[in-house]
Amino acid sequence: MINHENNASLQKALSPFKENCKSIGFVPTMGALHKGHLSLVKQAIKENDCVVVSIFVNPTQFNKAQDLEKYPRNIDKDLALLKSIKGKIFVFSPQVSEIYNENISSKSYNYSGIENEMEGKHRPGHFDGVGTVLNILFRIVKPTKAYFGEKDFQQLQIVKKLVEIENLPVTVIGCPIIRESSGLAMSSRNKRLTPQELSEATLIHKTLIKVQQEFSALSILELNSFVKNEFKNNPFLTLEYFEITDVSTLKTAKTKKENTTYRAFIASFISGVRLIDNIALN
Ligand code: AMP
Repeated sequence: MINHENNASLQKALSPFKENCKSIGFVPTMGALHKGHLSLVKQAIKENDCVVVSIFVNPTQFNKAQDLEKYPRNIDKDLALLKSIKGKIFVFSPQVSEIYNENISSKSYNYSGIENEMEGKHRPGHFDGVGTVLNILFRIVKPTKAYFGEKDFQQLQIVKKLVEIENLPVTVIGCPIIRESSGLAMSSRNKRLTPQELSEATLIHKTLIKVQQEFSALSILELNSFVKNEFKNNPFLTLEYFEITDVSTLKTAKTKKENTTYRAFIASFISGVRLIDNIALN
């Protein structure tokens, strides 16, 4: 497995696959890999002739400089983890200049309003940064299929819109959330938490499970106040948002409607680290 740090080297490695019309799976990541990322890579290997895993901490999707600075990075460990997986994997880990040249800025996207909900409200410009980098990476890798985790459910919907907007010939595949045995969704950001904080952070998934269990019995108003109380009573976690949304629009649901599929979302801070999670409700 070779780590390609520039586009030219990656193109050279991929050209035999492209010439022979082989399928290329693509898993874009920001590194600090864990089993959640690896599950995407394994699924991509099953479904394609080769897989490109990009490791790139994208500066334009961070709306806070400190968050970008503190984002965990460990390329050697990432490469060792990927080497342990059987299959034809190409790693692409470019420098910022390889992707953006001199112009580290985002293109502005209109994703039909999905970008204005939840993460979009709380992280201004985030999805423009995500769209910008993925548009560049998709044009470099030219994948047949690209794999994204439901852990970032809103991002998954954004990427599906992006490929429509940019007319990219790629199939976007959503993959299930991988969790610790405690239920906590795996995340590179978990690496910044102490054992006690990791244990407290399980409140996020526990609360989502309770919401799922009570979804048919309680109103959305009642579920909202239940979640607010759960977080108010925990001195470690601060709730940034709890939302129950219609999955097709990701707009906040105020009441339940028939023939509608709902999902619940939480964003919460624990000692300055922002964690997100979500769950299907019906
Ligand atoms: P990131 O490196 O955080 O940008 O994540 C890269 C990809 O891995 C994204 O598509 C994420 O949704 C996905 N991912 C991250 N954590 C998990 C997880 N716990 N389960 C499944 N997919 C995940």
